[in-house]
Amino acid sequence: MAKQKPSYKEIPAAAVAWKPATDYKTGDWRSKRPIRDTEKCTRCLICWVFCPDGAIHWDGEDLTFDLDYCKGCGICAQECPVECIKMETEE
Ligand code: SF4
Ligand code: SF4
Repeated sequence: MAKQKPSYKEIPAAAVAWKPATDYKTGDWRSKRPIRDTEKCTRCLICWVFCPDGAIHWDGEDLTFDLDYCKGCGICAQECPVECIKMETEE
């Protein structure tokens, strides 16, 4: 008889970064960093939702980029509806 496969309820969630991996600073990988135009930013939080590394922090009033964990993927810049994030090459 074939072995019963586990239900999805028994399989742990994967591929979701609930919080930055604090022991492994992915910022070391970065070749470009996000620079935000704070005048143009509408605080819509789309970038915060899309950042795969949990590297954008919202304090209730404004955003900050945590460069210890931002790996420079550029997704935030790609998804920003008002195009106020530019990716700048690291020195
Ligand atoms: S997606 Fe763009 S406009 Fe929205 S909060 Fe982020 S930087 Fe600001
Ligand atoms: S560049 Fe990538 S890792 Fe860095 S803040 Fe934007 S989405 Fe997050």
